[in-house]
Amino acid sequence: MKTKVAINGYGTIGKRVADAVCAQEDMEIVGIVKTRPSFEARIALEKGFDIFTASKENIEEFKKSKIEVSGTLEDLLKNADIVVDATPGDTGEEYKKLYEKHGVKGIWQGGEEHELTGFSFNSEANYNEALGRDFARVVSCNTTGLVRVLYSLDNAFGVKKARVTLMRRSADPNDIKTGPINALIPDPIKLPSHHGPDVNSILPDIDITTMAVKTSTTLMHLHALNVELKKTCTEDEIINVFEKRPRIRLVSSKDRIKSTAEAMELAKDLGRPRGDMWENVVWKDSIVINKGELYFFQAIHQESDVVPENVDAIRAMVELEKNGERSILKTNRALGLHVN
Ligand code: NAD
Repeated sequence: MKTKVAINGYGTIGKRVADAVCAQEDMEIVGIVKTRPSFEARIALEKGFDIFTASKENIEEFKKSKIEVSGTLEDLLKNADIVVDATPGDTGEEYKKLYEKHGVKGIWQGGEEHELTGFSFNSEANYNEALGRDFARVVSCNTTGLVRVLYSLDNAFGVKKARVTLMRRSADPNDIKTGPINALIPDPIKLPSHHGPDVNSILPDIDITTMAVKTSTTLMHLHALNVELKKTCTEDEIINVFEKRPRIRLVSSKDRIKSTAEAMELAKDLGRPRGDMWENVVWKDSIVINKGELYFFQAIHQESDVVPENVDAIRAMVELEKNGERSILKTNRALGLHVN
């Protein structure tokens, strides 16, 4: 029997996780929750998803728009094993009580605090610790991207310290309200940024400090990393480590991938759904050891890098697969994510 997954919050992350779950053999979507009728709700219906509303009050609005609704979130929870909560954040406590009431496991996203579940997840770094858990939080897009590279470097060479500057996309491409249109915003001005402590919610022993700047782009985040390693190593050895990781894609400016724009074009040309790039895009030719320290650039597709992690979190929490590496392989294969 397939694991029954509910999606609460069918926006940027929720709709992608829904499709990724559908691609897996061992899980299925039993319904998605929308607050308001929209084109996304209509497409969800066309895809065969049952739509539920966040509360009874919303049902009338859906009826007026002639979008069929199967009930409320509470009705959906009666038939689910696990819910992926991809609501915008800050509704965590309220929904957690509801999931507990219905005996349904819950996965939140990076917009919620670590304290909500007391456990933050990354597929490669701590799959085992998620086994059988009732509640977990898949960390944000930026933290997921940082944990993937730092975990692999730490395993191979030991990370003495990491200093990272994050150039953040300021809004998702479908967002018509958020700026800046023409500015760079140190965010937060008071340093360091929260990304370092968030990495520590998964990798507590890594000495990391981060600063972030909001930039006038919607495509991807760009990270500039400076890492001091415990063991001396060469650039080729770093490349070797990244090549073996399941969710790191090495690219090169020699292939004319010199920007986030071209990295996104690559995802489209690969035939990815919605043009998604689930893996970290690391510039192979940016990797350099200078004065004994490692430097490189990576780009992170904020809309999609956490999607495979959500699938693995489901598998671990429901104990569909006890081995993290096997889960990652299953998820990657089902999505068509074959890198390097
Ligand atoms: P979004 O705004 O695109 O989607 C959220 C969806 O939830 C919308 O469809 C909205 O209508 C719905 N919603 C709002 N209030 C609700 C409620 N009370 N009950 C049920 N549904 C409700 O947001 P998103 O970008 O998908 O973000 C979701 C979560 O994922 C957040 O925690 C965010 O921090 C995290 N996240 C976002 C990104 C990103 O770049 N977009 C990346 C990684 C993680």
